[in-house]
Amino acid sequence: MNIANWLHDTSRRFPQRPALFEGACQVADYATFAARVRQRAAHLMDTHGIVPGDHVALLMKNCCEYLELLYAIWWVGAVAVPVNSKLHPGEAAWIAENAEARLIFTDGGQVFSSQGLPAECRELDGRTPPDSACDSGLEFPCIRQDHDLAWLFYTSGTTGRSKGVMLSHGNLIAMSLCYATDVDPVSAEDAAVYAAPMSHGAGLYNFIHVRCGARHVVPESRGFDAAELFGLATELGNVSLFAAPTMVKRMVEQARRQEYAGEGIKTIVYGGGPMYLADLMEAVETFGPRLVQIYGQGESPMTISVLPRELIADRQRSEWATLAASVGQAQSCVEIRILDAAHSPVPCGERGEIAVRGATVMQGYWHNETATRQALVEGWLLTGDIGFMDPAGYLTLTDRSKDVIITGGSNVYPREVEEVLAQHPDVFEVCVVGEPDAQWGESVVAFVVSRDAQALNEALLNAWFIERMASFKKPKKYLFRSDLPKNSYGKVLKTELRQWLKDTSVTAVP
Ligand code: AMP
Repeated sequence: MNIANWLHDTSRRFPQRPALFEGACQVADYATFAARVRQRAAHLMDTHGIVPGDHVALLMKNCCEYLELLYAIWWVGAVAVPVNSKLHPGEAAWIAENAEARLIFTDGGQVFSSQGLPAECRELDGRTPPDSACDSGLEFPCIRQDHDLAWLFYTSGTTGRSKGVMLSHGNLIAMSLCYATDVDPVSAEDAAVYAAPMSHGAGLYNFIHVRCGARHVVPESRGFDAAELFGLATELGNVSLFAAPTMVKRMVEQARRQEYAGEGIKTIVYGGGPMYLADLMEAVETFGPRLVQIYGQGESPMTISVLPRELIADRQRSEWATLAASVGQAQSCVEIRILDAAHSPVPCGERGEIAVRGATVMQGYWHNETATRQALVEGWLLTGDIGFMDPAGYLTLTDRSKDVIITGGSNVYPREVEEVLAQHPDVFEVCVVGEPDAQWGESVVAFVVSRDAQALNEALLNAWFIERMASFKKPKKYLFRSDLPKNSYGKVLKTELRQWLKDTSVTAVP
């Protein structure tokens, strides 16, 4: 089924329900939303000759037109290629070329110089509605099969060139139904606020909100501003959003500054990177039972495991710290196994690579059979993440396999070192990586952002660490910085920190 049918159905069932909002201001109900989509779809077909199976890219900051364009692309049976709007035009042009996009919609239509894009790809302004009011022949979305491609999802490329993850209509439908079943039930009174980029997880959460006739809200800043978000939540009510852990941390700081306790927020779904226990405790204290954690990756979007709100909020529970440090249990449409290097399941509690199978798992990587063969083995998606599972099925992530540090023959998982350092009251942020070391193979290096530069030093952190963890895991070096490099989804760029260590023979504070 074409996922655009959900918009078609909702617009017929609830034409007058409020659909699209810019800030707190309604700009379309569902009938108008669907009419605009049909108009844009007619424009794609009639003016630009887009046919089913063509690829159309979007390089735009969050806006209501983003949703109109996505649905217009699917309405004509084409494939959407959402591109991170913060990429350099050269990187975006590479994606347009790799994806064989025929059109790329941008903010204003003038991002690329005349030579920037491949000859077959045309740039158009995505914010301007098409001239033609032609709406004929497109009453229903084009028929698509479940396995037909819907969304080419370019990975954030934190470990090299990004790859195009092929997500089908069936993948997106399964992901959305999992959201309603496992993450948070959705009703028409809800409002999905797009504070994180729509080209990524936040955008993927639009579907279930369309299906349920809920509101879609794009902040006026078109991005993440905690104070603006709280204002919107208070005004609109029942707001849900996806936020990377770094965004949750900023929300907590802002909430404390303005004595805000989550009024108007229904759910904050966090994931996409590690949430340290120390940060989670502060978030629960600030926002109460509003947090749900998901673990996913582009290759099984937003849908591997879930840690429900009741558990996160239940600080009295004896095993709270252990469970809250996990990423929860498998979502409804996937099964999870922990595999050894030979791809055999390991016993319960042992670490291995997390593998996933089910209805949300990608069809493969676009034009990259080698990477597809490496990632999909006998129907299992090898995530590249290391973790272990307890007897109740709670999954704990230790790290990306590429991030594990092998020092003196022992494995050190950066996540556990980071957890211990993050609990120090004067540590604001921390990131641990391995550095090549002639004696040990690799040594542990901690990049630390302190809350108060005067209050923190290497000796204090060492003392803190040794009281809590084996000394072979202790960082050999602490590098104090004012911030950590992050990509536009808020993930710390470990590759950049490792590269920086390589390029610099550091002994001093950068
Ligand atoms: P991406 O495909 O860019 O969304 O990145 C997916 C990766 O982010 C996963 O393979 C994990 O390494 C990491 N990740 C996603 N969710 C979580 C989570 N809840 N906790 C820790 N790491 C996560």
